[in-house]
Formats: sequence, C-alpha cells, structure tokens
Amino acid sequence: MTIEKARLKQDADYILHELTRSICPECKTVIDAQIILRDNKVYMRKRCPDHGWFEGLVSSDAEMYIAGAKFNKPGTIPLDFSTEVRDGCPLDCGLCPEHKQHTCVALIEVNSACNLDCPICFADASPAFDLTLAEVEGMLDRLIELEGNPEVVQFSGGEPTIHPQILEMVAAAQARGIPNVMINTNGLRIAHDDDFVAELAKLKPAIYFQFDGFDRETNDRIRGADLLKTKLKALDRLAEIDLDVALVAAIERDVKMHEIGALVDFGIQHPAVRGVVFQPVTHVGRHIPFDPMLRVTIPDVLHGIVDQSKAELVLDDFVPVPCCFPPARSTRTSTSTARRSSRYRASSRSMSTWTTSPIAPRPTCPARTRSG
Ligand code: SF4
Ligand code: SF4
Repeated sequence: MTIEKARLKQDADYILHELTRSICPECKTVIDAQIILRDNKVYMRKRCPDHGWFEGLVSSDAEMYIAGAKFNKPGTIPLDFSTEVRDGCPLDCGLCPEHKQHTCVALIEVNSACNLDCPICFADASPAFDLTLAEVEGMLDRLIELEGNPEVVQFSGGEPTIHPQILEMVAAAQARGIPNVMINTNGLRIAHDDDFVAELAKLKPAIYFQFDGFDRETNDRIRGADLLKTKLKALDRLAEIDLDVALVAAIERDVKMHEIGALVDFGIQHPAVRGVVFQPVTHVGRHIPFDPMLRVTIPDVLHGIVDQSKAELVLDDFVPVPCCFPPARSTRTSTSTARRSSRYRASSRSMSTWTTSPIAPRPTCPARTRSG
C-alpha cells in the first residue's frame, strides 16, 4: 500500500497591501499594479500583457511607509482645470478634474539648454527651446486663474539662469504678488557673472541650488566635472547678497550616500542656506539604465542623515509633508530640531531638511499614476 505525501499549503512571502495603477516600463501602457510588503520593504509588482512582470522597490522601510499614511489630509481643489477626464490618468494630464490636489509648487521650465552636460540629466538638456517672456507671463496669469493666490513659482530648465530674460521673468512673477519666487540653478552663472549677481540682489528670488557633495568622485560621476570650488564661490556670493538658498543634492546609490550627513552639517553652518533637499536621482532622460530593486528611497536618506550628521537628529524628527499623497512622498524636519545640539545653538537662522521620494515625478501631482 502506498501512502500519498500530503500536499501542504504555503503562505506567500509577501503581504498584498494595496492596488494601484502604473505604466509598463517597456511600452508605457497603463496597467494594474500591486503594492506589496516583504521583509519590511515595500515593492510595486505589475504585469504588462505584452512584456510580463516587473517589480521595483518603493520604500526600504515598510513600517515608515505605513506610518506616513496618518499624515494624509484632504486635497485642496484648484479653482479651475485645463483638460477633461477622457482616457484616465495619466493620459488626461492637464490638470484634469480627477486630480486630487492643487498646484503647491508651480514649476516653469523656461529653456532646455544648459551650461553643464551632466551624465544623470533627467531633462536630457540640450538647446531646443527658450520660452518668451510673453509666454511665461501667460503661464503666470493662467496659474493665478487656477490657484487664486499661488504661493510658489520655481523657474527651472535646462539651466534657467542662461535664459536672456530670466530676471524679467522673476520680476513678472513678483509683480503678480507671488510671495516665493525661486530659481533652480546649477550656480555657474552666479559664480562668474558679477552683473547678474547684482541684479539678483535687487530682486531677491530664493535660490534652489544644485549642490551634490564634496568628494571629487561624487562631482565627477553626477555632474561630469569637478565643480566644488565654483559651487562654494557661488554660495558665498549668495550669502553676501543675503539670498535664501536651499541646497539640493541628487542622491544615487553607491555614489554619495556617504555624504548625506556632511551635506546637512554644511547647510546648517553656511550663512546663505535655509534648507537641504535630497532628491534621489530620477532614471529618465540621459540616465535610463538602473536596477529598480536598488533605487534610493526616503528611508535610506533619513537613515543616512541620522547615522552620519553631527546634528543629533533621530528618525522621529522627520514627518511626511501632509499635502502629498503616499505615492508622492516628501519628508521634512526643521533644524530648530537639529540645533538642539549645542554645536548649532549659536545660529538663530531657521533651516529645514527635506527628502523627496523618487516614486512620483512631481509632488504637485498626487493622483498621478505611480511608477515602480
Ligand atoms: S496626473 Fe492628475 S492631472 Fe494628470 S491625468 Fe492624472 S489625475 Fe489628471
Ligand atoms: S542636470 Fe541640470 S545642470 Fe545638469 S545638464 Fe541637466 S539641466 Fe544642466
């Protein structure tokens, strides 16, 4: 007599957390996706009928990911929309009426050219267009129709400081009563052009300043050039004219994770700096090849800050920015917290540390289909 081996049911090695929509990384078709939890990490799994299964890391700390949900708040609906709901997100982009949040940071790309040639450029910058001043004024007027009282406009590119009318564009935004007008820049023109700096001193825009780190190798691999001296010179000039600066570091695994703490400590001590922003590199444009299971996520950056910085921060000091839906996470702390360390108590300036997740391209777009 033979005894049949009992067939035992087995548990999956993951928990199905939620369902969402995404796109196929090969053909860009909109497809269903699952958010799963495994080994205290969060992953997205999705299947394209033509290209099969894909999986990518969403967060390297599932507990932190789930805890962040309690900070969600109802979205604020804009006064008007620019497209209709027809084919579904993200094909109706406009904003369409299905969008769940207003524009908290309006970003205007004024040109596509740049005075750098970074290997990681997600914009794949090259000379293709310059917006005219009239076009930018039209965009600002439309923004006011949509928002009523927009709080922030950021001029970006390409490299916006090489646009011949960037100063007039900043003035046009300020003339419309927008309180926070920012220029997103690599700082080269600020380091080298005295007349431009003198004009910035009159207008006083905030400066969203590309600053990646201190190691020669970091600068070479991220920017294709050793730019540290130029960046420090530009920062000192911005301090001299009393402009508010946010340091913005692109973070790539195995390139400069070790510099996260040094960037925070430098920002706390530099007189121009009001904030440090960490942006995990976006793998589009000139920088496509990567392993989605190894991407840098917000918990990686937070652990880097806590472990490396001399500011004595702990993980509980960081809270998600509440207006961002989970797929577009941003996290912030204030360095009034960091400055509880006596090392920093001498400074009276306020400064914030932000990290931004790579999983959604624009934090202003909470309903956007998620990539993973
Ligand atoms: S991302 Fe927002 S605006 Fe774009 S299609 Fe989706 S819901 Fe509409
Ligand atoms: S990443 Fe920025 S600075 Fe570098 S080439 Fe692209 S637009 Fe220019």
